[in-house]
Amino acid sequence: MLYNSTENKQEVVSASQAIAQGISKDGGLFVPQEFPRYSADTFKELLSLDYKGVAKKVFSDFLTDFSDSEINECVEKAYTSEKFGSDNPAPISYKKYNGNGVNILELWHGPTCAFKDMALQILPHLLTKSLKKTNDGKDAVILVATSGDTGKAALEGFKDVEHTKIIVFYPMDGVSPMQKHQMNTQEGSNVRVCAIEGNFDDAQTGVKKIFTTPEISAKLNDNNMMFSSANSINWGRLLPQIVYYIFAYCELVNDGKINLGDKINVVVPTGNFGNILASYYAYCMGLPVNKFICASNSNNVLTDFINTGVYDKNRKFYTTISPSMDILVSSNLERLLYKLSGDDDKVTKSWMDALKSEGKYAVSDEVKEKIKSEFYGGFCDDDKTKATIANMFKEENYLCDTHTAVAIAVYDDYVKETGDKTPSVLASTASPYKFSKSVLTAVNDGNEPEMSEFDMVDKLNELTDVDIPKPLSSLKDKKSRFSDVVKVDEMPQFVLNSLGVE
Ligand SMILES: *Cc1c(COP(=O)(O)O)cnc(C)c1O
Repeated sequence: MLYNSTENKQEVVSASQAIAQGISKDGGLFVPQEFPRYSADTFKELLSLDYKGVAKKVFSDFLTDFSDSEINECVEKAYTSEKFGSDNPAPISYKKYNGNGVNILELWHGPTCAFKDMALQILPHLLTKSLKKTNDGKDAVILVATSGDTGKAALEGFKDVEHTKIIVFYPMDGVSPMQKHQMNTQEGSNVRVCAIEGNFDDAQTGVKKIFTTPEISAKLNDNNMMFSSANSINWGRLLPQIVYYIFAYCELVNDGKINLGDKINVVVPTGNFGNILASYYAYCMGLPVNKFICASNSNNVLTDFINTGVYDKNRKFYTTISPSMDILVSSNLERLLYKLSGDDDKVTKSWMDALKSEGKYAVSDEVKEKIKSEFYGGFCDDDKTKATIANMFKEENYLCDTHTAVAIAVYDDYVKETGDKTPSVLASTASPYKFSKSVLTAVNDGNEPEMSEFDMVDKLNELTDVDIPKPLSSLKDKKSRFSDVVKVDEMPQFVLNSLGVE
């Protein structure tokens, strides 16, 4: 299977090249030229497999220049019970909200307690193998822009991985105290962490610019290094996310919630559009989906886009209690537009160019209609997010984090608005303890606690009796290693300094 750039079909690469490079030279994103199709019989075979088994099947269909033993090794190393707490890294909690069933796919049982682990525990293995195949002997420099969770998950995945170095940039005031502490205490000899004066979009734009500046790449090349990306623009990030939607479908069938072939709805709290796109790609492979429900917080640029066909990032930016979704430029939407426009690289490029120059574009009527028929967009502000956490806890004794609560609230709106009761899979993206302050406020009748982050964790545990994940409780006594803060235009120099490159 080959991959090409969304902005230039002439740029064709192998899977390992796509993963090693991260982003195409022209700034477009790598996409598979076609999708494998899973028939009802394929799904029947998948029903008897565990998570690793489904992962191996999906990976082998997309990474055709990897051998079976290479794929085996990557999957076996990534999804261990030591790292994910059990043999099933993606368990489903069957709950009700306002009387309607929601099948909550918990994707946060990994080492950093956010769904990013599902991809970032395997990406380093895929990447080091890809580098061996494509760029003999070069070390990979992983640059990450993070809204909080990717940074920690990438650091944890890449720490002390041979032939890699990782540098993470995060918005100074745009992550939770727990997220900041998780990153600044990161161990490993090949890691650097730096705050920037700006928001997530500034960090992401800064990183993209460093990637595409030829002089910087040349300097790295002279030092036997090359850039790569662990952001969800990297194909190696998206592919592992396809697996859990297929796996969840099989679980619903095995648990008697649906029959094989029945359609489901997919509900995803969305920021950069990576997670929901992975579910859409699963649908392109044959997963029976009725509707994709795209849930945003007050940064509701995607809600408006789905409803109007106009993407406009020229709007107020809100810092919310679901910070991993505080995003106005959803990078992976480009891949959806490419697909919906019938793999049209020219028109995709024209929209992305308009986004860069005007901050705005309008898709064709045809693409707009397709989006409307397959997607529902909704959003939820902070007050409603907190009320949802409180209600869910009251109704079901189930504690969810702020991002998951956004999805539950939007799903509830969807059911009320449409009456559609198709069984749903709702992606739960973080442990509630990653966002203790907001979650505690929500279950504590709206009273904001005045105490340290770790006291809040304990208080939340006391109030709810929900276990604190070990990776978070063990951070308590760790010392901070990193404290750098730079301006956006100082990011390139920070990178070069960190690498010891003149
Ligand atoms: C990253 C993240 C999201 C958004 O996922 P995208 O793939 O960027 O849409 C939602 N919730 C949490 C907790 C996250 O870490």
